[in-house]
Amino acid sequence: MFKLKFKSRSVHKIVKGNFKMAKIAVVGAGPSGSSTGYHLAKNGHHVTLIDKESFPRDKACGDGITAKAVRALTKMGIDYEYLKKLASEYYLWNSSIISYYSQEYHQEYSDWSICIPRYIFDNIIYEKAIDAGCIHHQQSVTNISQFRSNFKHEFDYIVDARGIFAGECNVIGIREYWTLPIELFPHYYHYNIQVYLEQELGSQELGSNGYLWIFPVGLNDKLLKINVGLGLSLKDYERRGTNLIRFFDEFVVRHHVAGKFLDNVVTRTRKKVYPLATTKWNNKIYENNIFKVGDAANLTDPVTGEGIHNAIASGFYLAQAINMSEDIESVKINYQKFYQKYFQKKLRTRLLQEKMLSLPVLRNFLLYKIGKLSK
Ligand SMILES: Cc1cc2nc3c(=O)[nH]c(=O)nc-3n(C[C@H](O)[C@H](O)[C@H](O)COP(=O)(O)OP(=O)(O)OC[C@H]3O[C@@H](n4cnc5c(N)ncnc54)[C@H](O)[C@@H]3O)c2cc1C
Repeated sequence: MFKLKFKSRSVHKIVKGNFKMAKIAVVGAGPSGSSTGYHLAKNGHHVTLIDKESFPRDKACGDGITAKAVRALTKMGIDYEYLKKLASEYYLWNSSIISYYSQEYHQEYSDWSICIPRYIFDNIIYEKAIDAGCIHHQQSVTNISQFRSNFKHEFDYIVDARGIFAGECNVIGIREYWTLPIELFPHYYHYNIQVYLEQELGSQELGSNGYLWIFPVGLNDKLLKINVGLGLSLKDYERRGTNLIRFFDEFVVRHHVAGKFLDNVVTRTRKKVYPLATTKWNNKIYENNIFKVGDAANLTDPVTGEGIHNAIASGFYLAQAINMSEDIESVKINYQKFYQKYFQKKLRTRLLQEKMLSLPVLRNFLLYKIGKLSK
């Protein structure tokens, strides 16, 4: 039974002037939930933001926040200056090294991007949602359909933003933070994020690509903090039947770049294993009158593993759909239109690219495109 207690409001919609304010429960206060909550609360809706954790809370991630994710954040009044002021740790980057089966592709971007540990980044977005008027409840909602039927008189809309716990896991990731003396971090890697798609991490049989990432996430006078992680397709991981922590430890030692960094590492934090919900051909953005955003809707890019941008953007578009609609059926129609226009085509293209990456003739062209599309 749910422990939540909400003040009962007798009317279904509270009308102020001509504007109908809805009562909305957003379950999950990560980037997608906080973005949804922020944009709804800013428009005068009553938003209850429910999360099983209290903030700040950690989330296993590469911590890479692309320029387009920062652009999506500007709609919440968050820009680079704001992030740099509030984040106690960050690292700016404007180029990437993507290596595919030992062939390296170096890409420079005209815009800057940023890495911020999610413990810090998610809290910045969450605080914005609270400042905009969202009410926080700390509670775990394991069965959201049950939640909906229990609280159908309390809320006009229910939004599922519980991330992978609501989405469908198809990749498994592990990350660890390392610190090393800045002078021992070669200049070649400065302002870079690195992604290594290695033969050993994929499976030709299953058509899957695994990858190692090395993302700098913090810097002081002496030390650089890097986020080092591995992503493996779930099918491949299950086929291997290996212990991911042991596999990661052994893999980074023999990796030609990670292994060299490891020689100079001063500290290593506890590893965190976490599933990813990369996109599927037929993503569902609502089900049983419950709307989904971010990872709950499987909006993560299957090639790069980037999900933060789509999490923030889907929150914005769902809020727009609610703001412009009279009832739940019109919200569905409008949200679906936004989804088709801003997400579906790009995500489906990525699914095709993921499959085509295994064809050597197309690989160079695709890696160039992937670098460009991640801007
Ligand atoms: C290993 C790894 C590396 C990644 N690297 C990157 C990267 O570098 N760049 C990038 O853009 N993306 C990356 N991603 C993807 C990115 O982390 C997600 O796309 C993003 O976090 C999705 O945001 P979200 O708000 O939908 O979900 P989340 O960030 O997962 O937030 C979900 C929230 O729901 C809450 N919740 C969960 N279950 C319940 C429940 N039962 N009741 C109440 N609350 C609940 C959680 O506590 C959490 O606060 C990575 C993912 C993984 C796993």
